[in-house]
Amino acid sequence: MRERQTRQKRIIYEALTALDHPTATEVYGYVHERYPSVSRATVFRVLGGFADTGKALEVRMAGTDVRYDYNVRKHCHVHCRVCGRVADVPMPENLPIAAPFENADGFRIEDCSVEFFGLCPDCARKSEQVSRIPS
Ligand SMILES: [Zn+2]
Ligand SMILES: [Zn+2]
Repeated sequence: MRERQTRQKRIIYEALTALDHPTATEVYGYVHERYPSVSRATVFRVLGGFADTGKALEVRMAGTDVRYDYNVRKHCHVHCRVCGRVADVPMPENLPIAAPFENADGFRIEDCSVEFFGLCPDCARKSEQVSRIPS
């Protein structure tokens, strides 16, 4: 039983590295193709466990499902506004943003996250092709 759990965890972790910021559903799709015996509930439970133990990050971005990231170093993300693809943006350890210590309605600010939006290479290429078609 333990061995089976270890194997399930290994394949789910492999899905995280292969898929690059997948949603839980995408992880399930990857795992299910290779190991149909692994249930959806197991995938969700193991992903939650990875997040709890710091083996993966839960990435919450506006307008998309929670995504999972095996890169647990502090970094930012860029999000394609057309297809939803997410990629890492390397950032300095401390963002060059001065914390607004005043006028924060009494909040003690602990952290901030920055989210970038744009077009991924595929969508950028497609939008260029479209704009080149003479109207
Ligand atoms: Zn895209
Ligand atoms: Zn990331």
